[in-house]
Amino acid sequence: MLNIVLFGPPGAGKGTQSENLIKRYDLVHLSTGDIFRANIKGGTDLGNLAKSYIDKGALVPDEVTIQMLESEVNKHPEAKGFIFDGFPRTTAQAEALDRFMDSRNDSITCMLALEVPEEELRQRLKSRAETSGRSDDADPQVIQKRIDTYKRETAPVADYYRAQEKLVAINGVGSIEAISKRLFEAVDATD
Ligand code: ADP
Repeated sequence: MLNIVLFGPPGAGKGTQSENLIKRYDLVHLSTGDIFRANIKGGTDLGNLAKSYIDKGALVPDEVTIQMLESEVNKHPEAKGFIFDGFPRTTAQAEALDRFMDSRNDSITCMLALEVPEEELRQRLKSRAETSGRSDDADPQVIQKRIDTYKRETAPVADYYRAQEKLVAINGVGSIEAISKRLFEAVDATD
């Protein structure tokens, strides 16, 4: 199976690029952010819990997130592979994902890490706020919190995959097509 971790700071373009990757490689896209937002919209217990963290720019607790992710993977027994978008976001999540993949006799193929300068991220999130309707995009203080949370808790996840020689850094600045091309080349180089 082809199992890709798509990694990058808030606003790096993970959602957009996931769409192009799933079309090209016929993968199942699992975005923890999208799953949380669907639960918030549906007013589920999970949604209410997640909202209290998301609106502060904090991460939803690992235990909740890991359990949710595993149950989403289990909903797709026919999958040829997965794109994990927004997961793992902590080293504990990365370790849990490896254990889970192991238990399925499977593994993570690679981590593709989109790199975008911080100033550009702020600009992108600001303009996304005008159309996304996302409350966590609307408030500059929450945006700053998310960037800080990323640096503190999430950036170390790249080291985890670097140690396994699975990290591929991708320049995330340029046209959507140009960035997709870089991602496709990186995936094709893994086999
Ligand atoms: P972005 O990449 O733009 O920050 P996402 O849609 O990936 O947005 O995530 C939105 C929010 O959902 C995050 O700020 C965080 O609060 C929560 N979230 C998403 N994925 C995870 C995760 N793997 N672990 C904990 N919290 C998460």
